[in-house]
Amino acid sequence: MAEFSLQLNDDQLQIQDWIHNFAKDVIRPNAIEWDEREEFPFPIVEEAAKIGLYGWEFLMNSMGDPSGLTMPVAIEELFWGDAGIGMAIMGSGLAAAGIAGNGTPEQVMEWVPQCYGDANKVQLGAFCVSEPDAGSDVSSLRTRAVYDEANDEWVLNGTKAWITNGGIADVHVVVAAVDPALKGRGQASFVVPPGTKGISQGQKYLKHGIRASHTAEVVLDDVRVPGRCLLGGKEKLDAKLARAREAGRSGEKQPAMSTFEATRPAVGAQALGIARAAYEISLDYAKERVAFGKPIIMNQAIAFKLANMITRIDASRLLIWRAAWTAKNGGFTHGEGSMSKYYASETAVRVTEEAIQILGGYGYTREYHVERMHRDAKIHTIFEGTSEIQQLVIARAISGLRIE
Ligand SMILES: Cc1cc2nc3c(=O)[nH]c(=O)nc-3n(C[C@H](O)[C@H](O)[C@H](O)COP(=O)(O)OP(=O)(O)OC[C@H]3O[C@@H](n4cnc5c(N)ncnc54)[C@H](O)[C@@H]3O)c2cc1C
Repeated sequence: MAEFSLQLNDDQLQIQDWIHNFAKDVIRPNAIEWDEREEFPFPIVEEAAKIGLYGWEFLMNSMGDPSGLTMPVAIEELFWGDAGIGMAIMGSGLAAAGIAGNGTPEQVMEWVPQCYGDANKVQLGAFCVSEPDAGSDVSSLRTRAVYDEANDEWVLNGTKAWITNGGIADVHVVVAAVDPALKGRGQASFVVPPGTKGISQGQKYLKHGIRASHTAEVVLDDVRVPGRCLLGGKEKLDAKLARAREAGRSGEKQPAMSTFEATRPAVGAQALGIARAAYEISLDYAKERVAFGKPIIMNQAIAFKLANMITRIDASRLLIWRAAWTAKNGGFTHGEGSMSKYYASETAVRVTEEAIQILGGYGYTREYHVERMHRDAKIHTIFEGTSEIQQLVIARAISGLRIE
């Protein structure tokens, strides 16, 4: 078991510094442009791939850190630069986590690198769970996977909604119902390899924030994938289905839920990066902006806002680091992952709103970044489990009861 320490080690400090510089020099100066363009920032992601920041090796190394802190530290810096571009760089990670969480070691080695490509040819991954009628309620997926035994192929049909990198990804990881009667326990995850016929992009969503991240529907129309694309393999799935049928309501988790649980501190770290960026801009501004003959920070009304902002930001980081460490060292016992994501995302919304208030009229314009940060922050209370669902997870964990 790794020691829990608030003192980052040399490697972590180096990574923090390296990503901060990339965020400051490359990401932040391009943030306004890509927010306006509302399209995937390929040139910036290619820059990130060139320095090794976008790539499976970086992901695997960070995920392999026994303290668990490297990942949240890296993400905080990335999203400090800009959340839309940050999400464009991180989006493939969700597909990679879906593969790593459910696949065999051979499947991980085959598919995770393909979610990233390399510096010469950047590739993307997408993790497709949500559907028009199933977001929070992931046990009600309608996308079906049917096994064609004669050809050893799986046939996928359905529509996925709000998918990050949906339709533009090279590798789509799709969660589908094999036995819908078993709800979440009857689901499995499949890799849809690059170039597979029958998978296409539906509507591209125009969004409130994180506009540089591509979000779209994914339509699966008789998509055929080889048997080896079932993550975890057929034997394991058959055994799981048999257990579920026998046990009736067993407590076994559905594949999508376990991916989301493991990635929650990382999503909290995204929100934390946005909150810290808005706070820093506000603090600098409050010291410089003069009203009634003195800097506005000399008024308690403004100084106390900043005091509250940094208190919540630091509390978020402590929750995130604890959750990230706990996930690697023993596992969550009372909803620590959800606490970190819930608190950090609500903090980001509140802090970015206060930042606009502190900057006054300038804050409401696009020039000063904080209005974009406010728009970007909001998604964190919605995706990968809404704030209400996080509270549900925590309430169930502390009570041991199936609170509705
Ligand atoms: C920009 C963006 C990117 C996304 N990327 C992905 C992706 O890459 N892959 C993917 O699979 N999905 C993705 N999503 C989908 C996202 O995870 C869902 O939107 C989210 O889980 C919420 O589901 P929903 O929209 O259906 O809302 P609903 O589940 O319909 O919820 C609506 C409201 O009801 C509340 N609610 C629902 N059930 C309960 C309950 N039991 N108790 C209390 N309140 C409840 C919710 O908290 C919410 O306030 C993305 C969404 C967006 C907007």
